Formats: sequence, C-alpha cells, structure tokens
Amino acid sequence: MTDSAAEVLAAHVREVPDFPKPGVMFKDLTPLFREPEAFNTVLADIADRWAGKVDVVAGVEARGFILGAPLALRMGLGFVPIRKAGKLPGDTHTRSYDLEYGQATIEVTTDAFTAGHRVLLVDDVLATGGTAAAACELIECAGAEVVALEMLLELSFLNGRDKLPGRTVHATLVD
Ligand code: AMP
Repeated sequence: MTDSAAEVLAAHVREVPDFPKPGVMFKDLTPLFREPEAFNTVLADIADRWAGKVDVVAGVEARGFILGAPLALRMGLGFVPIRKAGKLPGDTHTRSYDLEYGQATIEVTTDAFTAGHRVLLVDDVLATGGTAAAACELIECAGAEVVALEMLLELSFLNGRDKLPGRTVHATLVD
C-alpha cells in the first residue's frame, strides 16, 4: 500500500526543542524538502484537492515559497509571493501581526492578483494563525478571493483556526 501524504510528512518532520527560543517546539521541514519522492507525494495530495478550483497559488515568505512555487507549477498556475516588509518594489498592501515568537509585517504588491481570482494560500505551519489571517487580509485587499488555506502542519493547541473564522483550512498533518 502507498503511504498517505500524512504518513509521509510525519516521517519527514524533525522536532527541535527550544528553537528559536525556550519553550517553542520548532517543526523543521527541511527533511521533507530534501527528499523528492516524499515532497512530491505531499504536493500531489494538495494539488489533487484543489485542481480546477483555484486560479493562483500564494505563499508567505519564506517556507511558503518552498512549498507554493512547485505546487503552483505542478497545477499549471502562477505563484504570488507574500513577502516580509521592505522586500517588494512598487505599491504594496501591508499588515502587521503578532507571532508565536515575536512580531512581523508582511506585504503584497497592489497588482499581484487579477480581480476576482480564486487563491489557494499555502504555508508550512499553522501556529497562532496570525500569519495566515494577515495573508488572507492582504489577498482580499488586493482584490482576490481566498478559496482555502493549505498548511503542511497544524499545531492545534495554539488554536490558529480561531483567527480564521469561516475560512476553509486544511492541514496535511495535525499535531
Ligand atoms: P503563526 O502566525 O503563529 O501561525 O505562525 C506561522 C508561521 O511561523 C509559519 O509561517 C511558520 O513558518 C512559523 N512557525 C510558527 N511556529 C512554528 C513552529 N513551532 N515550528 C515551525 N515553524 C513555526
């Protein structure tokens, strides 16, 4: 029998205690990214779920890029980067929010999306949900529609979904 995407992912996550600060159990996905067969299994599962239902993939810097760009290509779609503050040229929409460990500001260019396009937002980990909620606001501010969020891992004890009411959120693996 072929392993499910969840089983494959579970076998390729490294847990690093107290990184980047004491009390945080960091989920390191680099073991997945360096194994093409495993990475492909996880991406194929996401692509199959949303084929024909979205027009574009967006991802949040930086691990959302590692995930989102190959996913978009595989689906025959474009990819929009949502970046940390100060990295994108031209006019941008901006959102600041609190993180599990610190604060952050992210941006997207005002011309990033075609009006009304259906967006699949991807990131590696759903923790407190602040990043995902801010990214959804940016996408909508730029005139597109967030169809769903795909996360590789959800840390359910941090209740990230509470910041995403009414949104469709799928995680390959829930902790
Ligand atoms: P949050 O806004 O709290 O949901 O945090 C999500 C972002 O922070 C994601 O883009 C993750 O890359 C990163 N992150 C937060 N907590 C962790 C963790 N425990 N392990 C790995 N990455 C994390």
